[in-house]
Amino acid sequence: MADILNENNENVMSSNFIHQFIEEDMAEGGAYYGKKVHTRFPPEPNGYLHIGHAKAIFVDFGTALKYNGICNLRMDDTNPTKEDVEYVDAIKEDIKWLGFDWGDRFYYASQYFEEMYNFAIELINKGLAYVCELTPEQMHEYRGDLQTPAKSPYRDRPIEESLDLFKRMRAGEFEDGSMTLRAKIDLASGNFNMRDPVIYRINRLKHHRTGDEWCIYPMYDFAHPIEDVMEGITHSLCTLEFEAHRPLYDWVVDNISAPCKPRQIEFARLGINNTVMSKRKLRQLVEENYVNGWDDPRMPTICGLRRRGYTPAAIRSFTDQIGVSKVNSIVEYGFLEHCLRDDLNDVATRAMAVLDPVKLIITNYPEDKTEEFEVENHPNHPEMGTRTVTFSRELYIESTDFMEEPVKKYQRLYPGNEVRIKSAYIVKCTGCKKDEKGNVVEVYATYDPETRGGNTPDGRKVRGTIHWVNAKDYVEAEIRLYDNLFTVPDPDSGDKNFLDYINPQSLVVLKGCKVEKSLAKAEKQDRFQFMRQGYFCVDSKDSSEGNLVFNRAVGLKDSFKK
Ligand code: ATP
Ligand code: MG
Repeated sequence: MADILNENNENVMSSNFIHQFIEEDMAEGGAYYGKKVHTRFPPEPNGYLHIGHAKAIFVDFGTALKYNGICNLRMDDTNPTKEDVEYVDAIKEDIKWLGFDWGDRFYYASQYFEEMYNFAIELINKGLAYVCELTPEQMHEYRGDLQTPAKSPYRDRPIEESLDLFKRMRAGEFEDGSMTLRAKIDLASGNFNMRDPVIYRINRLKHHRTGDEWCIYPMYDFAHPIEDVMEGITHSLCTLEFEAHRPLYDWVVDNISAPCKPRQIEFARLGINNTVMSKRKLRQLVEENYVNGWDDPRMPTICGLRRRGYTPAAIRSFTDQIGVSKVNSIVEYGFLEHCLRDDLNDVATRAMAVLDPVKLIITNYPEDKTEEFEVENHPNHPEMGTRTVTFSRELYIESTDFMEEPVKKYQRLYPGNEVRIKSAYIVKCTGCKKDEKGNVVEVYATYDPETRGGNTPDGRKVRGTIHWVNAKDYVEAEIRLYDNLFTVPDPDSGDKNFLDYINPQSLVVLKGCKVEKSLAKAEKQDRFQFMRQGYFCVDSKDSSEGNLVFNRAVGLKDSFKK
């Protein structure tokens, strides 16, 4: 990360092209000289936030922070469908969790409906908007092509007539879809967004905040610049698909009596492979029970990532490192995992857990003896302290840590081989017991009392080190292993439905795992590195004292190739 600091001397974000534009604007002679940088994050409250939104949040809030400015949170609710308080609350929670703050500047776009209406009247009065009676089909038919301009027989309708009709549209005198208000710009423009775009439509839909007060609703391209103007936004940062809409954004701002002139700057959307990111598709996964809710740890939603074990720092570092550019690209899922591993490696408490247990019996260790070992919670952070693990004659080890007939280069337990029982002793494998089916049910070994702590006083080499849990002093846990939700890098492409690519192995539930006793006190959302296994997080919904559930956030091995 570049060393960009805010008022509190915190590293905010790496430099990008947006900063260059802003610095020009804030400099002497620039459009905003002497003003505070003011941005906004405008989610539509029709779903939960996902990792793509995290990038926008990082850009919107991070840019404001970088320049000691402010960023508003605005629910973009001009579209009166599928909006829900549940989403609004979740959006706020996720942004706070990511570490950003909108102060007391929380708004709804719908609170500006009256101003939008008045600005529309202003445009009509200036001869810059007219009521058009083309049906949607006719409008489509008359839109023209690159050689042919669009047309509307209503374009030269007298101002008075448009004013009267628009007021009556609002009063509810006309059918849905029978009339629109169009901006009078340029029917021959090479940019089709400028060919007299519709700015109001009639739509009798109940709005989640304004109820039945309105039966006409503004179109996004007209509403958004007005929302920005109403809030005194200086820089309206948005994704690339709005680039071709910028001339219309500027047209609106220039032609209404706006007290300020926000500048729209576009940046590339974030795409990640092996997942989908559109809210519509995420909602479908939830509603059709392909996953267990918006916060299912396999979902790319912020709440899903949180439940999986992601930290705000990991997500911020990811969004910073992928950078901000003008070119859309797909980031490898492995890079997100890499950023998580990087953070958890530094902050997660170490512990031991056996996922697929088999008993190891140390035949020369006294039956009734128990020893205590003080082990560090983190190899590089002595300040994280130590904890006590107990050791006895019977341990649980990973079943894969024993092979009766070892494969080449296998350095763990096999008859005759010595292995280090992490932090405890060196043991030598002496054999095993099998059931009728030939499955190993117990492994036997003898220990060397001279090797307490896992050291060899005579300096002999012991290659393998294995993790373990005292079979007389442990807690049982359920461990959930996750894999990509989709089996292909781009489930959205091709002619098949994305649902056809769901990975049936994306969730594997292991019951009867043995974890060390210290974890009995683990609290929801606590994160650990289980030695040799990966990073795990206590499930925030299903875990409880006596019924521990861990989610594997990410494995230890880094699959990400730069
Ligand atoms: P979706 O297609 O998932 O519904 P959206 O763009 O309609 O996404 P909004 O709630 O309108 O979702 O998005 C709020 C803000 O977040 C917008 O400024 C939008 O540009 C930005 N955003 C959404 N998805 C991404 C993404 N994948 N990468 C970067 N920014 C995004
Ligand atoms: Mg949207």
